[in-house]
Amino acid sequence: MQSKLFFYGFIGTFFFASLAETVFSKERLTTSDQGTYPNIQQSVLKSFWLLQFDNLIKREQTNQIPKQPFQNTPSKAKSRKMFTETKSSRQKASDNLSSTFSPITMFMCGDVMLGRGIDQVLTHPSDPVLHEPYMKSAIGYVELAERVNGPIPYPVSYSYIWGDALEELERVAPDLRLINLETSITKSNDYLENKGIHYRMHPKNIDCITAAKIDYCSLANNHLLDWGYSGLKETLETLQKVNVKSAGAGQNLQEAETPAVMEVEGKGRVIVFSYGLVTSGISPGWDALKERPGVNLLKDLSKKTMQRIKEKVKEVKQQGDIVVVSIHWGDNWGYEIPSEQREFAHKLIDGMGVDVIHGHSSHHVKGIEVYKDKLIIYGCGDFLNDYEGIGGYEDFRADLALMYFVSVEPSSGKLIRLQMTPTQIKNFKVNRASKADSLWLRDILNRESKRFGTQVKLSKDYVLTLQWN
Ligand SMILES: [Zn+2]
Repeated sequence: MQSKLFFYGFIGTFFFASLAETVFSKERLTTSDQGTYPNIQQSVLKSFWLLQFDNLIKREQTNQIPKQPFQNTPSKAKSRKMFTETKSSRQKASDNLSSTFSPITMFMCGDVMLGRGIDQVLTHPSDPVLHEPYMKSAIGYVELAERVNGPIPYPVSYSYIWGDALEELERVAPDLRLINLETSITKSNDYLENKGIHYRMHPKNIDCITAAKIDYCSLANNHLLDWGYSGLKETLETLQKVNVKSAGAGQNLQEAETPAVMEVEGKGRVIVFSYGLVTSGISPGWDALKERPGVNLLKDLSKKTMQRIKEKVKEVKQQGDIVVVSIHWGDNWGYEIPSEQREFAHKLIDGMGVDVIHGHSSHHVKGIEVYKDKLIIYGCGDFLNDYEGIGGYEDFRADLALMYFVSVEPSSGKLIRLQMTPTQIKNFKVNRASKADSLWLRDILNRESKRFGTQVKLSKDYVLTLQWN
């Protein structure tokens, strides 16, 4: 272990020296005739980042627990309030049962990372200082992106980062907009010292979430506690202030497990549970306990765990409700879907009343399954982040993603339609993908979904539609 540390330390120092020279010198990296593929020096840099990225992720899986829990544990009054809200929504839902025939359409996407470089280009950037081993300022990520794709006109408006997605959201007009928020929203400086990467967005930038009329954020992921328990607390409070619902984290286990309940007027309720698995890099010590803040972590997929989920769904699900399980699971890279993951998804649908599985953590899109007429998205891919200057894993095209528009029948939870709009992260915003990239996504989805008996068709307006038996 010691010798390993020494080895990585040596390698790290060597590469940091190269990186510092490359990143901070005024000389721009030249590009080769291959277009976007840079010269050898940059390839080395990319490989280096890649290595660091993997190492950091692995390191994040080690036992890291934020320093101190909140001074104030959640009040009973607050827990009671949450329960009352659920009750009153339940009443409303039963009133709406007669009108459950028109489908509910939900917009879903994968990781939305609004920290670091993205936070720096918004109106109220956080202190740019980073505690990463090889990058010491968040502005460095802006500079890396600008080197690859040209200037970003910052400070940008709150709607800027959503780019073409806003128009598409208006066109489709989904009933709900659900994202996985892969960032804490906080001014906290209480970073986890043993973790290599920390994402935070300044709370004054919260308008970038409301600019896209986001209804809900999943929080059970591997970045919510980057800035300690105070970061978790401020994230929850900031979202609450702007009436954006969330699930998957809380000041204790009860709060972390509580799903978000959303009413779609005239159609019914959508209930979203947020879970995270350690396979996504969430530290086992991040789990919320009876009297400890944290995330809604599933440490295993044992029978006991399944029973726990079943009871939670049963507690809240009423006839006509749609239950979504939003789950952060698996590696960042690779198309493989472990059999354990697939079995788990099937069990959620089979005996637990879950209607849609919204999976994320992979930086690229993965295969899609329809099981007993219920949708399983194994990996949405990253929707927005500041990685465009980092490079590495080019074959996966992590810059490409999809806006998933999921239409389900409220009375049964059955999938009626899945349409997907191809997008590309460029200049720190979401852009419509080109025709060539849309075709590439189509082919990847068809290759990866073949084993599930699903396929996608690309329409003339470059929207993908899922077909299944
Ligand atoms: Zn993650």
